[in-house]
Amino acid sequence: MSRVFNFSAGPSTLPESVLEICAKEMLDCHGTGQSVMEMSHRSAAYKPIIEGVEAKLRELMSIPDNYKVLFLQGGASTQFAMIPMNLKKGDKVAYADTGVWSKKAIEEARRFYSTVDVVASSRDRGCCYIPKLDKVEGDYDYVHITLNNTIFGTKWEHLPDTGTIPLVADISSCILSEPLDVSKFGLLYAGAQKNLAPAGVTVVIVREDLIREDLPSSVPTMLRYDTHAKNGSMFNTPPTYPIYVMGLVLDWVKEQGGAEGMKKRNVEKAELFYNYLDNSDYYHATVEKGSRSLMNIPFLTKEIDAEKAAILNKKFVSEAAAAGLVNLAGHRLVGGMRASIYNAMSIDGVKALIDFMTKFAKENPVA
Ligand SMILES: *Cc1c(COP(=O)(O)O)cnc(C)c1O
Repeated sequence: MSRVFNFSAGPSTLPESVLEICAKEMLDCHGTGQSVMEMSHRSAAYKPIIEGVEAKLRELMSIPDNYKVLFLQGGASTQFAMIPMNLKKGDKVAYADTGVWSKKAIEEARRFYSTVDVVASSRDRGCCYIPKLDKVEGDYDYVHITLNNTIFGTKWEHLPDTGTIPLVADISSCILSEPLDVSKFGLLYAGAQKNLAPAGVTVVIVREDLIREDLPSSVPTMLRYDTHAKNGSMFNTPPTYPIYVMGLVLDWVKEQGGAEGMKKRNVEKAELFYNYLDNSDYYHATVEKGSRSLMNIPFLTKEIDAEKAAILNKKFVSEAAAAGLVNLAGHRLVGGMRASIYNAMSIDGVKALIDFMTKFAKENPVA
């Protein structure tokens, strides 16, 4: 069977060359006579794998020495709670509300803080843009943003100035999609299943001074950053196989020119697709210019009757799948379609999608 173009929002497409290496090394990785899946995480065979992944990530993201890199489990969703548990000193935090994941992060913060100030929101227009937030001041423990909003397809172009307040960002769906100045943040986190690896590992990049040992004893051992930082992410069994695949993906990113190379590739794909949508009289993008994601692109057809649109969208998604273009259904909150074009999606995939869309528009005229 030939491979499809997979536009899933996550877990998502991985570079084919990476999957081929996985297959080749499945039974015997580097002459050890074992699959990585079978290796003890404390073995001499596994140690260079996890250490290599950290070194590669540090190099590709230019992570400064005063930041720790942690490989955790529980997804980005567990970070929504771990962040307030570990960073709480006072009783106030600030969040920007730009979508579904932001809202979930806010809800978790409310378990730990009596004041969670929503300092910016794009709810007034269905989260189709990034709100203006130049400066945040106040006695906040941290300021939280979702850098790329996977469901609504928006991305922060300008970071707010938070002065000495640590800026915390969820970068699950944009990590390594373009260069990012890590030193502007106190903490960054990402579930790996969008841009880095199969599901199962979460990357946390945290400035050392934010890793505290004087946390209340009610914070469980496994939910403390210091536990994982002190033990090189080996306090318990880390997700060994996804970490190994991440290493292969990072090698691929490096071959493609690192974060700069990814940006070039991603801008080319996104520009092609947005230009197509902006010049179409059949489809349109849902997100305003200036807030558009490079990774997740929701779009609608010009059918405005809700019932007819639902039927048309369903037809689009199933005919696209039959043509080898899968997982294009939009999130139910946005409707329509969504193409997630993460790092590993090729320009050929985007071109194939555009060709399909042109054909579909011709075959399904809307009055
Ligand atoms: C997918 C996603 C999440 C949830 O990640 P899990 O690893 O499933 O918990 C959180 N935030 C963003 C921005 C996402 O894209």
